[in-house]
Amino acid sequence: MSEFGLIRRHFQRPAPAGLLGVGDDCALIPGGSSAWAISTDLLLEGRHFFADVEPESLGHKALAVNLSDLAAMGAAPRACTLGLALPRADDAWLAAFARGFHALADQWGCPLVGGDTTRSDHGLTLSVTVFGAVSAPRALRRDAARPGDDVWVSGTLGDADIALRLLLAHPDRRAAAAITTDPAPSDATPLFHGTGLDAWLQALPTAAAARLLADTRLRLERPEPRVGLGQALVGVAHAAIDVSDGLLQDLGHILAASGCAASLQADALPLSPALAALPAGAARCAALGGGDAYELCFTAPRAHRDAVARATQRAGVPATRIGSIVAGVPTTTVLDAHGQPLSGLPRGFDHFS
Ligand code: ADP
Ligand code: MG
Repeated sequence: MSEFGLIRRHFQRPAPAGLLGVGDDCALIPGGSSAWAISTDLLLEGRHFFADVEPESLGHKALAVNLSDLAAMGAAPRACTLGLALPRADDAWLAAFARGFHALADQWGCPLVGGDTTRSDHGLTLSVTVFGAVSAPRALRRDAARPGDDVWVSGTLGDADIALRLLLAHPDRRAAAAITTDPAPSDATPLFHGTGLDAWLQALPTAAAARLLADTRLRLERPEPRVGLGQALVGVAHAAIDVSDGLLQDLGHILAASGCAASLQADALPLSPALAALPAGAARCAALGGGDAYELCFTAPRAHRDAVARATQRAGVPATRIGSIVAGVPTTTVLDAHGQPLSGLPRGFDHFS
């Protein structure tokens, strides 16, 4: 059973009237003139972060991935809580972790108001819950995409995925492979599979791999949640989601909830200079399937193109039009420069399949 099948079967229940329950980036609970937007994310050592990651970055990321879910609803952060299961009480480590956490909390006006702390015999576990406010009828829900909408994505995609793959690759193997393997595959390769991308990265000369890691690492370890953009898109965008598990998979959640299909242009995918310098098949694999991007993917009617431009300007975060929503069963087609659909699209991240 997939992660999402498991959640649907065991934890999704019909929500009481007026309440948005399981299935979106946040739940919405009515609370006076606006609704409370609430989301929880769990981070486990060895699964979501390396044990030796810089604690200040980890503190930042633990809150960032949660703020990203508020952004995806168009909600304004109000407060957060922090659950900590700690293998040991290391004061210097905790001071750095707290510095990263509070700095981001201060940046977005999201004070830490509670939590729980225990000892852990199984590595470090973090659980953050965020509370935000949004006008319920105007929240950016996953089920609001309509045929004819443009599909947009903020910032750039794929950097975090490349950084993660480089960090996972064994440095010695990478150096040895560089002697015998040509790192430049033919551009005729339409799309790398995940394992092909790993093999290509491992075959990079050590200096090139180090440069690529230096260019992409910040996006993995210190993602910037698009909180301002999410709020600026309220009343402008139809549906939105944050890209945590890969663009195709996360856009797939919008399509499934909205009952429509999407057509994307591969050449339109926004790439950082570091990714744009990679072979197209490698960059596209990371951009379409790579997790941890924490960009917003959203849909908006064509008539709102100017309004989207104003929202991105106000937020200081660019967005790129990458395709459109069309009628049909929930699937995404990605077209190359000749209008031909790409095959072998990456599936995105699922904890159980
Ligand atoms: P996101 O990537 O936006 O954090 P997820 O993919 O983790 O969302 O989860 C999908 C949906 O399932 C969300 O609405 C989330 O709140 C819900 N969900 C996940 N795990 C559980 C659980 N154990 N109990 C109830 N709801 C859950
Ligand atoms: Mg989300």
